Amino acid sequence: MTDAHAASRGVGVVVVAAGSGARLGAGVPKAFVALAGRPLLGHALDTVAVVPGVVSVAVVVPADLLDTTGPLWSGVSLPSGAVVVAGGAERTASVAAGLAALDPSCDVVLVHDAARCLTPVDVFERVVAAVRSGAAGVVPGVPVVDTVKVVDAAGVVTSTPPRGSLRAVQTPQGFRSEVLLDAHASGVAATDDAALVEALGHDVLVVEGDARAHKVTTADDLAHAERLLAVPTPGGAS
Ligand code: C5P
Repeated sequence: MTDAHAASRGVGVVVVAAGSGARLGAGVPKAFVALAGRPLLGHALDTVAVVPGVVSVAVVVPADLLDTTGPLWSGVSLPSGAVVVAGGAERTASVAAGLAALDPSCDVVLVHDAARCLTPVDVFERVVAAVRSGAAGVVPGVPVVDTVKVVDAAGVVTSTPPRGSLRAVQTPQGFRSEVLLDAHASGVAATDDAALVEALGHDVLVVEGDARAHKVTTADDLAHAERLLAVPTPGGAS
């Protein structure tokens, strides 16, 4: 048993929802775009609220949307005790703002994209379980169906990684809290938190992700999410 396992003090969750959503082009920040009549953020928080062991939630939103009584918040239920804070210009800065607002006693921290609003609760549970089993960092991932090329600035292929070794990673990404705090103290920006933790030399474990954890980025992704919601899931909420 690891020290982290021996001293389970609770799970903190940072939900980042401060992106502009320019690629979706909906005229409101992406997390506040409606999916089945409610903001993406509302769907995401419904799941966070039922993750076992969660003791602290920080929701990171654009600075002009801090007022949770505002019209865009209609249909969003904040988990009990959740705090709402302003994000930054880059995702990394938004995560850092959320981390600073979490209960410092949490020994496990999850970082979740509001845009992955249909991620099932069992993905959260797998990530937490793997951190509690001793991993410094854990990310859900799915096999990549396309062959992926690495290209240089001129678009010339420089390598073709073997597809079997590739995973498309999702959120929630989970970490021992001190590891993630160290990673963010480095001040480097990255598109996911695991990359910061990897850069410090920690092993990051990939656990099974879920197709429903896809990120809503374009109008097609939103239409796909609408279709997924129309299909009942075994066991109910996801
Ligand atoms: O831009 P991208 O789709 O990669 O964003 C992933 C998640 O990070 C989204 O939930 C988005 O709201 C959040 N984000 C943020 N602050 C930013 C940029 C993105 O909270 N400055």
